[in-house]
Amino acid sequence: MRYHGTMTQGIDTYSIEGLEGLVAELGQPRFRATQLFEWLYGHGASSYDEMTNLPASLRTELAAAAPLLLPEVMDKRISADRTRKYILKLADGELVETVGIPSGSQGGAGHERLTVCVSSQVGCAMGCTFCATGQEGFTRNLSPGEIVWQLLCVAKDFGKRVSNVVVMGQGEPFLNYDNCLAALRVINHAKGPQVGARHITVSTCGILDGVRQFGAEPEQFTLAVSLHAARQVVRDVLMPQIATVPLGELKAALVNYQRAAGRRISFEYLMIDGVNSAEEDLVALKDYCAGLMVHINLLPVNAVPGGKYNPCSEAYMYQWAERLAQAGIEASVRTSRGSDIYGACGQLKNMQG
Ligand code: SF4
Repeated sequence: MRYHGTMTQGIDTYSIEGLEGLVAELGQPRFRATQLFEWLYGHGASSYDEMTNLPASLRTELAAAAPLLLPEVMDKRISADRTRKYILKLADGELVETVGIPSGSQGGAGHERLTVCVSSQVGCAMGCTFCATGQEGFTRNLSPGEIVWQLLCVAKDFGKRVSNVVVMGQGEPFLNYDNCLAALRVINHAKGPQVGARHITVSTCGILDGVRQFGAEPEQFTLAVSLHAARQVVRDVLMPQIATVPLGELKAALVNYQRAAGRRISFEYLMIDGVNSAEEDLVALKDYCAGLMVHINLLPVNAVPGGKYNPCSEAYMYQWAERLAQAGIEASVRTSRGSDIYGACGQLKNMQG
């Protein structure tokens, strides 16, 4: 199966099954597809020439049928907190951002985690008013390989294995569902980057079809929802394009998701002073969580050039976390990683300056 909807027709547009089909079309036995997969996503090969256990004739045919056009790192910024943001240039010249976030103890071998925040689209159609990407508009979907290569690029630069993946960069992943799922299956694969399914999180602003489909997937991937307000009137201002999905309908879909998947959901809640952080917002949030198994991440809204929102104080965010805990709702205050290099939530905008 080949994935359409992208402008490139390179090897990156093929899912795992697609690679098998391609190899079969070229008259080769199935194990060649496994070898090809391992070269692409296990070893991160940058050309067909490197794939020395494939016959030279097959390498030539592959190069003609499905060119391997890796993204190019155009810019890299390193934050004071060691977060690294990359701007990658894709084969058609479009730019996309990805962020590598190390955490845990440094030096102690194997104890440091490396989380990669990948983008799923070039730009985004959702137009969230706190988000730099949303102000840019939508350009195109990323192919499965373009999503996986973001992770490989970060792993190579850090010189270590990626432990966690969050699909929280540019784009709304559930508006590019098939390519995202194909990418996650590669990322999770035993002969690929081998990131455990439970360590892979997809964040949606609330695309209902995606939530339904995701709940039926066999893998234990984690669902996160960018909630940011539990009062409709506030959410409609912050996230105007998803106003077509009322909070009540979203909740019904989340209840069904939990019934089907049996997994806990994360809510992301950017705390914005004077906008979504009043007492009535907290009350609405507690009500919204009733009947759901959730963990809430409270994050300070980040600075966006020309942006109009200011974050709540850390002390205030901890007060909310405590009040949520008193109501039996798990919540954590997350410090924003990489905000000094515009690599934090809502700041991704392909800025090189
Ligand atoms: S927050 Fe996410 S869904 Fe909203 S505009 Fe930004 S990238 Fe798109």
